[in-house]
Amino acid sequence: MRLSQFHLRTEKETPADAEIISHKLMLKSGMVRKLAAGLYTWSPLGLRVLRKIEAVVREEMNRAGAIEMAMPSIQPKELWEETGRWAKFGPQLLKIRDRKDQDYCFTPTAEEAVTDFFRQEVASYKQLPLNFYQITSKFRDEIRPRFGVMRAREFIMKDAYSFHVDEDSLHAEYRNMYQTYSRIFTRLGLKFRAVAADTGAIGGSASHEFHVLADSGEDALAYCDTSDFAANVELAEAVSPGSRAAASEALREVITPTQKTCEAVAELLGIGLQRTAKSVAIMGVDAEHAPQFVLALVRGDHVVNEIKLSKLPGLADYRLATEVEIAEYLGSEPGFLGPLNAAKPIRIIADRSVAAMSDFVVGANKPGFHIAGVNWGRDLPEPEIADIRNVLEGDLAPDGQGHLKIARGIEVGHVFALGRKYSEAMKTSVLDAAGKAVAPAMGCYGIGVSRIAAAAIEQNHDDNGICWPPAMAPWQVAVCVINPKNDPAVVTAAEALYLELNAAGHDCVLDDRGLRPGSMFADIELIGIPHRVVVSARGLEAGTFEYRARRAAESENLDHGALLRRLS
Ligand code: ATP
Ligand code: MG
Ligand code: MG
Ligand code: MG
Repeated sequence: MRLSQFHLRTEKETPADAEIISHKLMLKSGMVRKLAAGLYTWSPLGLRVLRKIEAVVREEMNRAGAIEMAMPSIQPKELWEETGRWAKFGPQLLKIRDRKDQDYCFTPTAEEAVTDFFRQEVASYKQLPLNFYQITSKFRDEIRPRFGVMRAREFIMKDAYSFHVDEDSLHAEYRNMYQTYSRIFTRLGLKFRAVAADTGAIGGSASHEFHVLADSGEDALAYCDTSDFAANVELAEAVSPGSRAAASEALREVITPTQKTCEAVAELLGIGLQRTAKSVAIMGVDAEHAPQFVLALVRGDHVVNEIKLSKLPGLADYRLATEVEIAEYLGSEPGFLGPLNAAKPIRIIADRSVAAMSDFVVGANKPGFHIAGVNWGRDLPEPEIADIRNVLEGDLAPDGQGHLKIARGIEVGHVFALGRKYSEAMKTSVLDAAGKAVAPAMGCYGIGVSRIAAAAIEQNHDDNGICWPPAMAPWQVAVCVINPKNDPAVVTAAEALYLELNAAGHDCVLDDRGLRPGSMFADIELIGIPHRVVVSARGLEAGTFEYRARRAAESENLDHGALLRRLS
């Protein structure tokens, strides 16, 4: 590539509105431009980086035996209703309607679509195991898109889905993917850590996240230097004794108003409020702190349900949910409660309806994982998790083998042994060796391809700009031509070197734009090219090229042979 024929537009000033260094440098180098909140255009320069990352991911996925395919970005509501995720996915799911009034979503992930493909394609266990993957755009209507492509709304994800006749096969593939991810992030030159993650909300038997270590990371990781324990902080919190005490304290503030609300609702309706501790509809850390408020009520012949409840006068202090919202939240149809069946009293879980009314929806229905189900920042204000994290540092590790340390990380990958949740919900089966129809066990495996570009910059930059790890640099070598307009001999020599290096397999760019050396070098450093070779009249006279590695403090004058050896 000749830069004179490329489109490179860097900026001198550091963009003021970007908070973290990767966002600043991606804008300054012109890799991305913002189109709208959480939506970014990848410039030709940025796209080269993205393609390099994709290439490593694709190569390693193929090597691991996964098979590439592509699914539509727009997917029908009916498919998402089969798994209940049309309602349950929440506001991150972007729903759209076509001219025929059919509902669709923009895919945030593709378990439904791939399972639908699978059930049409595969009939026998003999075709298993299978692992399908794609590298495509995903959309999530993030509540707080920020840090540029780090938390975008549209982003590139590699998502893979595996199918197995039994759990052993699933776990073998899970290990295969775990190792593949380790190879991918190692090849990309990232400092990363794999941590255990909660499986609570989705179900499933194993889950690990891969985090690029960086102080700007939104996630906290808990690990132990003296043992193998490493978990994301949500999981560590759920299992750490010290954090439970702290969380209980923090949660009292949440539960007390909920209880008051339930009491008020009960009083309004003139009915009894019964407090039980047996289920965990709202976040809590133990039964004591996870009360469920149950209203069993009858009016005349009819049960008063949440919908009617929400329409009762006197509840104006709360933001009332619509009938459809509540039904969606509860996973049922509007008007789902019919006339009273005396033999089967219908209960109303008041805290759920209050939650639906106030948009305050937290919790996982699995003991020990209540904190893990919380979306911090959405369900509860952020500072509370900071308090909990403070408590966690130094706490005894759950394995008792040492004390916890906290590091910050950027989640770039996630592997998940899903089990049969999706295949069962979507009535998918294959015939096993005995001829019996069985639902396949599934795994899913995601990598944030576009997020990796930002995460890599967080780890690899200096005062002059980006210092790309070689595997994802837009070019490996920049050949810089000094004064091309006035020095034909220099141009000829630079062209020859450029062609020679490309022919030898170096991904080389020729900077023939004719900029003053200072501006040219500033650009080449800013965009993070690992090797810079300067061709000048003075060098030609001496028979040398001026070589400089991106992070080196000094340049060296090397003759042709020495230069080639240095680059190889
Ligand atoms: P996060 O916790 O950061 O919101 P997630 O756990 O919701 O991510 P997954 O569903 O595990 O994400 O998706 C797989 C990968 O996709 C993530 O590990 C991450 O690298 C990437 N990813 C998820 N959301 C975004 C986003 N908004 N922008 C860029 N990449 C993302
Ligand atoms: Mg997310
Ligand atoms: Mg996550
Ligand atoms: Mg994840």
